Amino acid sequence: MADTNISGLDMGPTIEWYKNSGLSISYSTKNKPLPYNVENSQHIGLAEEDLAKLFYLFPKNARKRSILEKIVGQPEAWFHKDSTQENPIPIPNRDEALSPTAIIPSYVDFLKWKQTGVPSANIVLYKLPKDLVPKDIGKIILSEGFIHELGHTIVQPAFYVDDYTLKMPDGKLVNGLDAMLQFAQLAEQHPPISHYASTHRGKCNKFESDDPEYKPKTGISEELCESIAAYYLGFAYCGDDKRSRNPFADRPEIREYVHNFLNAKLAGKEK
Ligand SMILES: [Zn+2]
Repeated sequence: MADTNISGLDMGPTIEWYKNSGLSISYSTKNKPLPYNVENSQHIGLAEEDLAKLFYLFPKNARKRSILEKIVGQPEAWFHKDSTQENPIPIPNRDEALSPTAIIPSYVDFLKWKQTGVPSANIVLYKLPKDLVPKDIGKIILSEGFIHELGHTIVQPAFYVDDYTLKMPDGKLVNGLDAMLQFAQLAEQHPPISHYASTHRGKCNKFESDDPEYKPKTGISEELCESIAAYYLGFAYCGDDKRSRNPFADRPEIREYVHNFLNAKLAGKEK
């Protein structure tokens, strides 16, 4: 039987936990402008200065590796009720949604990369429905989403660009894909770091599924981007209050991995 664990697409439990947990965002203290264009900012519940302060949480080497081109605001969106883990379907209203709280906060768009072959990405941040998400909670959701998607603009090249080599902080050279598989091995020793990441795990916490459409690289990438968000925010909603507030308590080696991966420098082409 196929795994159809798509409850991670419903933000309801996450929103409730955010409301009750008294969380706040730790921004970068760097006072620099965002080096990217923001389009349709009227839809984005975060000011450009907030986005800049989140962007500068990332170390220089990670910022330089990011293939981000621009940030785009979009009207409200939900996951359609026929969404699957491999095929999430966005729709502009809640009538046909998986549930009223199956809202989409953010997305990373690699269409141009697919069309041109040149690595690039846009981050899409969606307007959040006011009746479901109070403004301060919306800021937490969008901050998490922005850091997660920014993570993808750094992680995806390591997966998919040929001859991608990272020089780790200890000086070792590591192939990008090998670095990702190393992360997968570490991550499989633990349950998913967040409720959202749980959508992509199979039996015994493995990145596998009976679903023929399942792509392990997608699952690994989602777990890593959720781990990157947890690293900067200090929380990751996973259903367990204690672990949500201290997401690396049971996995210090993953925190160390995230630190090293983000501080690694692009070593250039192999050969
Ligand atoms: Zn993602």
